[in-house]
Amino acid sequence: MKSLVEEVAATPGGENIRACIQCGVCTGTCPMAGEMEYPPRKIIALIRAGMRDEVLSSSSMWYCLSCYMCTVRCPRGVKPTELAHALESLATEHRFKIKRTRTPAMYRSFVNSIRGNGRVHEFGMMVRYYLSIMPDLLANPLATIKMLPLGLKLLLHKRMPLLPKKVEGKEDLSKIIQKFREVRGAQ
Ligand code: SF4
Repeated sequence: MKSLVEEVAATPGGENIRACIQCGVCTGTCPMAGEMEYPPRKIIALIRAGMRDEVLSSSSMWYCLSCYMCTVRCPRGVKPTELAHALESLATEHRFKIKRTRTPAMYRSFVNSIRGNGRVHEFGMMVRYYLSIMPDLLANPLATIKMLPLGLKLLLHKRMPLLPKKVEGKEDLSKIIQKFREVRGAQ
């Protein structure tokens, strides 16, 4: 069985993880480091230490804004932004439950919408998203109610059509996605 660092290094975006010298420039640069359970330098240390469950169940990588500041400044070309996306991919592939963030649910709704229509159908995507986080919503109904005026505004201004429009060549796009999943060994 591969070690965690080998698995990350074999995932697109994680190739340069072994070059890290733990200087901490990425953490000092990251605008989201204060929000993360494990900031970039620390998560790299945890990966090398083989802390698989701690790393892949962490919400840290899902907080990445893809601003690429760390990638520009890293003296070793590690590309921590790409590494964060590689970790998201591994956590999804191994079906880890992620606490403290709804971002994975949003990504899943987004991708499913594209798979169904060949493009994003915002209304359908938001319905899927809210259904998938229903327990959270029931625990905090006020936050959901606050979103209703915005949703209504978008509907009234025809910025969020109720019915999806499929793109031409949707089947070709489905084949590309299917091929990618086969190559990555995903379901
Ligand atoms: Fe490692 Fe680069 Fe972050 Fe320094 S800036 S800790 S070398 S990833």
